[in-house]
Amino acid sequence: MKYNPYAPYPEGNRNDEGSEAMYKEFDATELYCPNCKSAVPVRKRLLLVLPEGDKYEYLCAYCTASLGSKLDKNSKPTSLLI
Ligand SMILES: [Zn+2]
Repeated sequence: MKYNPYAPYPEGNRNDEGSEAMYKEFDATELYCPNCKSAVPVRKRLLLVLPEGDKYEYLCAYCTASLGSKLDKNSKPTSLLI
């Protein structure tokens, strides 16, 4: 099998906001989106960095509605060196 680096993206390289980098990762989680009226894959967006952890917002991958947020506890010890 040859790998073709110039092969087009399957869905036409959608890059709506040009800010893909701000989405740290995709979550496997699916949440119910009231707009899409179904369970949808979510995007996890970093909202706030708190001393006790990072606060993430879950956005619908299709319509980017906010579906909730969660606090990701930092596993590293909170030792602030000032
Ligand atoms: Zn949606």
